[in-house]
Amino acid sequence: MQELVRQLLAELGEDPTREGLLNTPRRVEKALRFLTSGYDADIDTVLNGALFTVDYSEMVIVKDIDFYSLCEHHLLPFFGKCHVAYIPSTKVIGLSKIPRLVDVFARRLQVQERLTNEIAATIGDKTAPLGVAVVMEATHLCMSMRGVEKQNSFAVTSAMLGAFRNSARTRMEFLELIKLRSAVPGLRDISYGAPAGLACIED
Ligand SMILES: [Zn+2]
Repeated sequence: MQELVRQLLAELGEDPTREGLLNTPRRVEKALRFLTSGYDADIDTVLNGALFTVDYSEMVIVKDIDFYSLCEHHLLPFFGKCHVAYIPSTKVIGLSKIPRLVDVFARRLQVQERLTNEIAATIGDKTAPLGVAVVMEATHLCMSMRGVEKQNSFAVTSAMLGAFRNSARTRMEFLELIKLRSAVPGLRDISYGAPAGLACIED
């Protein structure tokens, strides 16, 4: 990978041998390996020992989880907040594991819609809950840095499964709870019937 980065620097018109860039290929490789480390993560290992059988069926919410991911169209960051809720039937996940789960899927090349769906589907698979909801709010540098479609560089996506899909009341309860502290513009205006935002334009 380091030789490819040296070639990339040369293609950009830079001198890869100048002092400031000498160690850049090594740093870029290290950074990219970390930012895509989610490919090597095993979900069951991440959740190891943190699935508990309980008699509890009220909504569990973990909100304002910071996440950082890379858009697969441009290899540029998109980042923001993730809000997760589920209604257990027999199993709960240790609360600290939910941000870890978000990291596993965020540390890959992604589009925001798929990232949102993968987090929801995994919680669904592992706990068989009565419902799962995931809402992600993110800024996409591939759009805001390049100055294109600035008004859409902020995107909100959602995945609603089970009770959150079937019951408007359950869905609204969750959305009200995450809106309480969300200072992010746009969230209030989104209709949650379908994925709400385009992750990024592709060109
Ligand atoms: Zn992009």
